[in-house]
Amino acid sequence: MNIDTHFDFDFDFDFDFDFDFGQLTLERINAAARCTTNADTKNFGVTRLFLTPEHRAVLKLLTEWMQTAGMSTTLDDAGNLRGYYYSDNPQGKTLIIGSHIDSVKQGGKFDGIMGVILGISCIQALHDSGRSLPYHVMIAAFGDEEGSRFQDSMIGSKALAGGFDSTSLARVDENGITMAEAMTAFGLNPDNIPACALDAQSILGYLEAHIEQGPLLAQHNLPVGIVTAITGIERQAIEIIGETGHAGTVPMDSRQDALVAASKAIVAIDTYLKQTTDLVGVVGEISAAPGSVNVIPNRVQFSLEFRSPETRIRQQASDHFQAQFKAIADEANVKITAKTVYQSEATTCDASLSQALAAAVKRTGHNPLHLFSGAGHDGQAMAKLTRIAMLFVRCKGGISHHPDESVSQEDLDVAGRVMLYFLQQYQPA
Ligand SMILES: [Zn+2]
Repeated sequence: MNIDTHFDFDFDFDFDFDFDFGQLTLERINAAARCTTNADTKNFGVTRLFLTPEHRAVLKLLTEWMQTAGMSTTLDDAGNLRGYYYSDNPQGKTLIIGSHIDSVKQGGKFDGIMGVILGISCIQALHDSGRSLPYHVMIAAFGDEEGSRFQDSMIGSKALAGGFDSTSLARVDENGITMAEAMTAFGLNPDNIPACALDAQSILGYLEAHIEQGPLLAQHNLPVGIVTAITGIERQAIEIIGETGHAGTVPMDSRQDALVAASKAIVAIDTYLKQTTDLVGVVGEISAAPGSVNVIPNRVQFSLEFRSPETRIRQQASDHFQAQFKAIADEANVKITAKTVYQSEATTCDASLSQALAAAVKRTGHNPLHLFSGAGHDGQAMAKLTRIAMLFVRCKGGISHHPDESVSQEDLDVAGRVMLYFLQQYQPA
């Protein structure tokens, strides 16, 4: 993470906008928040799952707003709403602005849909002033990213990027309804999902604005920031085997206590995580056996998850933990094994798009802070199709996936202007 104060972009503005992004965007976010299962959003937040009546209701609003902004709209067979703002240049390629419009259960009203509504606000500003761009813009409102209904995430963006796995169609929700059945009932044809994939040759890139879901922007007193990468994730299952025995009779210096060894390992992990830049992680689950008040534990299992925007840092961490486990095992006379059970690679944001975004941030009078995303986003799926850039928007207290999720109207205004400046100055090669 660094503050970029050297880069200057030469903006060639032939027009500027008197457009209240903050007010329009916040009004619409509040209207969209009413598309939820429980009207008491203050206490219950927003619950808008994939292919539900709430999804249908928000599609109606978004379709209206897109059309008001001069876009033509279509709902694809993966349940994504696409709004097209066409260029006067028929040979123009397409820049995609997108995010998801589903929520977690009792989530916030900004996560996901804010990025879609900000995109529509930008197009509204262009449309109001009678402007088009030298390229087409597609606003993509992904029906599923969170995976809260079918426990399978980023269905919408995967479909657009050609990465949809058709075995997902057999997944069931808590009522036993398969994704395929839910799609059909929604009026979609799941057999057509492969045809939703876009042709990479026709796409310029993907831009997503999303709430930060963390505290860094607030700590730096900044409304927005530029994402460098979405972290890769590694999960390991750790098992420690010692020797059980009577807690009152086995001498302390001859014990092979698996739980004591686990404690040392966890402290070593935490220390390394705190010392290392661009690395975060947690031990989130632990169990000890036999699990009795007067018996020395002989078997401990715990989970280890760590994330980094750089694969190299993540691999170094893995090597370091392995060496630490060996030293602790030798000292405590136990056996420690670590098995990697999950790995996902980091997704790097495109340097030139991010530079253009940083220049647009500077244009609004703010320092462009570069930070990584520890959470997953649609950009990961879209990166299989095209280069991506992401703008983070400050959220109060870093709170997200919670009814108290909050973004100020002023910050929405800055985010909207950043995106519009970006669109204005962006010149496809
Ligand atoms: Zn999100």
